[in-house]
Amino acid sequence: MPSTASTPAAKVTPAHWVRAVGNAVNLSTVLGLAVAAAGRSSLRRGPQALVVAEDYRLPLPRAGAFTVGNVVLVPHGPLSAVELRQPGTLAHEAAHSWQYFWCLGLPFLPLYAVASGWSWLRRGDPASGNWFERNAGLARGGYAERPVTNAGLRRIARALHRAA
Ligand SMILES: [Zn+2]
Repeated sequence: MPSTASTPAAKVTPAHWVRAVGNAVNLSTVLGLAVAAAGRSSLRRGPQALVVAEDYRLPLPRAGAFTVGNVVLVPHGPLSAVELRQPGTLAHEAAHSWQYFWCLGLPFLPLYAVASGWSWLRRGDPASGNWFERNAGLARGGYAERPVTNAGLRRIARALHRAA
């Protein structure tokens, strides 16, 4: 079947359906829909069998977009506005959706938290050394790559030194 070159992201492949079913069964998409409802988002079908929840209205998390299961949540506006500011956002979020799939759903969340903590200890920010963000693409996620300086470890060491 021919596909239009201008909309490759809109094409739903069998792999996208496998991801959609997997993330429904592992309940991560259910959690994503609950978070979308809590944030009074507008739901629509997105590309790659994803659900796009736009105009999410809760103050946290502070992100241009974030993903829970197969649900891509976009705070305070439409995905198109975020994609304009940060091209590649959807591809980045779709990669996170695969990460939920490979983590069998909700275990993604504690693993992501550990990876964020590790990144903060090593690089002083929660994203640039975070395996999940690196795997999804730092640049298209809007993250700068910071050098390994053990910035977080040093802050803790300084705080302990002051307390002693
Ligand atoms: Zn990300």
